[in-house]
Amino acid sequence: MRKFLLAAAAAAVVLSAGAAAPTALAADAARADDSRADLATAAQLRDAALKANPAYEIVASLTTEVGPRLAGSPGDRAAVAWAVAKLKALGYENVRTQEVIVPQWVRGEASARVVAPYPQPFATVALGGSIGTPEDGLEADVVAFPDVEALRAAPREQVEGRIVYLGKRTAKTPDGRGYGEAVRGRSTGPSHAAALGAVALVIRSIGTSTQRFAHTGGTVYDISQPKIPAVAISNPDADLLERQLASGKPVRMHVRVTARDLPRQKSANVIGEIPGTDLADEVVLLGAHLDSWDLGQGALDDGAGVAIVAAVGAMLKERGLKPRRTIRVVLFANEEFGLSGATEYAKAIGEEASRHHAAIEADLGSGRIWKFSSRVRPEALPTIRAIARVLQPIGIQLGDNEAGGGADLRPLRPLGVPVFTLQHDATQYFEVHHTANDTLERVDRAELDQSVAAYAAAAWLFAQSPVPFGPVETAAPAPAPAR
Ligand SMILES: [Zn+2]
Repeated sequence: MRKFLLAAAAAAVVLSAGAAAPTALAADAARADDSRADLATAAQLRDAALKANPAYEIVASLTTEVGPRLAGSPGDRAAVAWAVAKLKALGYENVRTQEVIVPQWVRGEASARVVAPYPQPFATVALGGSIGTPEDGLEADVVAFPDVEALRAAPREQVEGRIVYLGKRTAKTPDGRGYGEAVRGRSTGPSHAAALGAVALVIRSIGTSTQRFAHTGGTVYDISQPKIPAVAISNPDADLLERQLASGKPVRMHVRVTARDLPRQKSANVIGEIPGTDLADEVVLLGAHLDSWDLGQGALDDGAGVAIVAAVGAMLKERGLKPRRTIRVVLFANEEFGLSGATEYAKAIGEEASRHHAAIEADLGSGRIWKFSSRVRPEALPTIRAIARVLQPIGIQLGDNEAGGGADLRPLRPLGVPVFTLQHDATQYFEVHHTANDTLERVDRAELDQSVAAYAAAAWLFAQSPVPFGPVETAAPAPAPAR
């Protein structure tokens, strides 16, 4: 950062002197040449990635050789070992792990069925973090609400002793907004139901699929309320339950969950770098999360993100390209169940936070990227527009300067770190996200390649930028992400 300030001060002196000295003009010309060369290199990386890059092989390797990797599980430990070996094989330097302590929750079995008026079993999964039921399960009448807000407004006598059902549907949107609007029921529903005396919570899956796959994801108990078991049923099963509720006859359900918490475990963030040259002490962070839910293979969430960011450094290495700033890939531990890795990373960087020039995370599958947005100081916006012009030929438009960054970047934002979003088309993402159907078959190679093209071009231009992007003023802490 200091070099920039000196350069900016020197430029100010030149401007105030009226007629620029010949040496300053020569330096300006050299900088313009550098910028043109950087834009050309970025365009070459973009076009090369569309033809060939290692991302698909990386996500195939992760899903085949590791598969599900829930925080604290044996799969999680295998993923850390896999990532260390993979980053080394791809040519990364300074490959290392950063220890992270993570919760260990074991899913066990979950079942939910109607026992009256028309008995039927449902495709069911426990919500992440749910407590178990008694060994034989529990049985109660069902009281239904359209969403968590309606539940919160209900009188206690309507809810007490019953199983609460939340029927909020997830809208299918390219920006994932529908998920953000529905996910509150999953994260806060159990405690709101428990506050009114409910004995269990059943939710419609927070996903858009009409297939019979139930959707898991973390729930967060409010420590001031009793804990009750919480499960999701697939969307077709939710439709069936709602038809039975609509009959007007009392609906009674049985729910059984054997989930439990075990002692916390060691996991790790896995970090690898493509070292910079003249600005090596400044960092361009490319993030993704290494953990996944346990039901599928963690292919889209977030194997695709791991593959996209890991492929970028490999492409630079293969071409002998040396960035000015250090490109650092961080594969975060336990995003899904508490942002443990992201929290540890932000805690550990200390004064290096001010040398984080840019941070971006790939964590919305592998759909085509359609929008690029930033969160930089206003003086950097001309550079952002120049980057956007390199992305435009592959169908990416420039968004606003209010990028959220990914969930794992949330702890970095209050530190003033400039964050970016390359927004994937999420229309299909919530068909499989957090379900048993999140498999390699759902990764479209051409779309993944377009994502790598965007990340490679953007990362190169972040690393080469003639101006600093931050620090970014942060009035309030970043809002809670929808995971
Ligand atoms: Zn994710």
